[in-house]
Amino acid sequence: MSSIDTLSSFKKFTDNLNQQQHLMPVLFVGHGSPMNGIEDNEFSRTWTAMAKQIPVPKAVLVISAHWFTKGTHITAMDFPKTIHDFGGFPKELYEVQYPAPGNPLLAKEAADLIHSTNVDLAHDWGLDHGAWTIIRHMYPEANIPVLQLSIDHTKDAKFHYELAKEIFSLRKKGVLILGSGNIVHNLRMMAWDKLYEPNYGYDWALEINNTFKELIANDGHDKLIRYQDLGKEAMLAIPTPEHYLPLIYSLGLKEKNDPVSFFNDKAVGGSLTMTSVKIG
Ligand code: ZN
Repeated sequence: MSSIDTLSSFKKFTDNLNQQQHLMPVLFVGHGSPMNGIEDNEFSRTWTAMAKQIPVPKAVLVISAHWFTKGTHITAMDFPKTIHDFGGFPKELYEVQYPAPGNPLLAKEAADLIHSTNVDLAHDWGLDHGAWTIIRHMYPEANIPVLQLSIDHTKDAKFHYELAKEIFSLRKKGVLILGSGNIVHNLRMMAWDKLYEPNYGYDWALEINNTFKELIANDGHDKLIRYQDLGKEAMLAIPTPEHYLPLIYSLGLKEKNDPVSFFNDKAVGGSLTMTSVKIG
């Protein structure tokens, strides 16, 4: 079938989806080390369990810290490649392939929902490790389409929060939107010798992680958007914004009455937290 035939027979990808009775939950997932992609550990086991807790999605749209671009892009290929965007890890990790399909029609539909900026339909990306290291534990059969939406590095947190609201309707159509980053993420300060010490976090990291959690649980979105005003601990937690902004997308997708819960709420190596959020 040519792509024109595909377009005429399926006006919109989501026209074929029954309106869901319930909104799909939204996740923010702390991804941590790429090794979580192949390790069977407490974090990856929770990802597997989470997939069983929530409705099976029609597609997954990931906002990953590792696709930080000029402008906003969405993956629009039939078969996104597995990207090994890291260095110095064991060969086994580079051999992982996650062959989930894409969905060009859904990419177009999502792009059309966004009016605050031009969204580029991208064919030169795929699934980076912010996406596949998590998703392969959730959906090991790789039979659910996975797309990525990039984060425009020229824009501030408020822009990303508002952009997320524009794709809210995808939640009604069975699309799982998943922000992938880390709330506290300071690799320069990591205690690399304590990586395998369970729940090892510096005092400042645990303190600001708790502040973030309180704000998330109590809809303190304005303060989370203006994270620069949260003091020096926040600056240590967020030396660069790419791992934090996926959380802002997840919060922008929250409906007023959505319940909020946390999972994988642990620190790793002092200055990184895996703290993850389920909304809805
Ligand atoms: Zn990362």
